[in-house]
Amino acid sequence: MMLSFDDTERAFAHKSCSDLKKAYRLFQTFSYPFLVKYGPAWSNVALSIGLPIKGMIKQTIFHQFCGGETIAESSPSALGLYENGIGAILDYSVEGEGSEEDFIRSFEELKQVILEAASKPEYPFAVFKCTGIGSFASLEKVSSGAKLFGDELKKYKEYCNRVDALCKLAYDNNVKLLIDAEDTWIQKAIDDLVYACMVKYNQDKCIVYNTIQMYRKDRLPEIENQIAVAKSGNYFLGLKLVRGAYMENERERAIDQGYPSPIQDTKKDTDDDYNSALELCFENKEIMNVMAGTHNEDSSYLLAKLLTDNNIKIDDDRFWFAQLYGMSDHISFNLAKAGFNVAKYLPYGPVKEVLPYLSRRAQENSSVKGQAGRELTLIQKEIRRRKKLSN
Ligand SMILES: Cc1cc2nc3c(=O)[nH]c(=O)nc-3n(C[C@H](O)[C@H](O)[C@H](O)COP(=O)(O)OP(=O)(O)OC[C@H]3O[C@@H](n4cnc5c(N)ncnc54)[C@H](O)[C@@H]3O)c2cc1C
Repeated sequence: MMLSFDDTERAFAHKSCSDLKKAYRLFQTFSYPFLVKYGPAWSNVALSIGLPIKGMIKQTIFHQFCGGETIAESSPSALGLYENGIGAILDYSVEGEGSEEDFIRSFEELKQVILEAASKPEYPFAVFKCTGIGSFASLEKVSSGAKLFGDELKKYKEYCNRVDALCKLAYDNNVKLLIDAEDTWIQKAIDDLVYACMVKYNQDKCIVYNTIQMYRKDRLPEIENQIAVAKSGNYFLGLKLVRGAYMENERERAIDQGYPSPIQDTKKDTDDDYNSALELCFENKEIMNVMAGTHNEDSSYLLAKLLTDNNIKIDDDRFWFAQLYGMSDHISFNLAKAGFNVAKYLPYGPVKEVLPYLSRRAQENSSVKGQAGRELTLIQKEIRRRKKLSN
């Protein structure tokens, strides 16, 4: 198979030299633990008391990882990706206080995201997080099997109606809709509702996609179970496969509360299950749509190889690759160049309200041995290549 992730010319074709240098400096700053740990909190305080730092944040970390503050402001970034054969997934990344007003505001915004995706080819999917439109505490209670009463029950039903309304809007407008996975102790309530929506809206084609975190020890059998249920219920099963973003919290909570950690013991166990899940979904492709949401080169290569080795058209709409905006362009752009379906989450929202999202990106990129090291090496390689050309 002719696929290589080493082509930095292709990976960074959309970036000017000054953009590349800016990105390099940014990824370097992530190696200062003090900055990564306290930077977002300081920024939050500074913004709250009106210090003029918004412009600086917007030109640096926000510019790297977000499209803009609004859907309209994110449009140039989406078009930039689209020119390179990559779709954008508008990700409303505001993490509010969790009030009913916040939920309704997010719900209204998410309807706009779906309608935007319906009207523009650069947005092949829409996405949302359940905790953006419903109470975390209620999701936790429902997941544990507890009953809700009174006002809490009424509000939970309103949340369920909002999830259903978003899936219906996506269905009516033929937009593929992803629902993110979150903490294990709220995930059962999310899963139950999302699969119920699949029964309703995935009868003719795959509209609703759930997310499966393969860092969980129990997810391979769960996928097998969902395949069997979808087969007997005659609907399409849409899954976004990820490794999982909340490993530290999960492990800490398990220790604090004295239950066995639901997370795999080693990175290799997570990797093995992720790749097995890709193979399992591929084997069941007659009823499945799959998105490989990953920055892992081996897993991306594996799905590409499954398609090409089995003579499946590489732009078959059942199979998508996805990365986050501002990360792993070498995977996204090289997959797109080879003709595979690729999309990138394009987070957006007011600067102050996307700080928690930016903080997670900074933390994820803080290990020079890990993701940040790889980004730095690739950017440096491209800067050197361009310098050589100009000499
Ligand atoms: C398009 C997209 C959508 C996403 N949506 C979600 C979502 O809905 N929910 C969600 O939780 N995350 C989501 N993520 C984040 C994702 O779960 C990962 O945190 C992130 O992508 C890093 O994993 P990786 O597959 O890219 O690659 P890698 O860098 O190869 O793997 C890192 C991951 O491996 C796992 N890991 C690391 N060390 C260990 C260890 N010692 N033991 C066991 N496991 C370990 C962790 O999950 C860690 O995040 C999404 C990512 C993408 C690209």
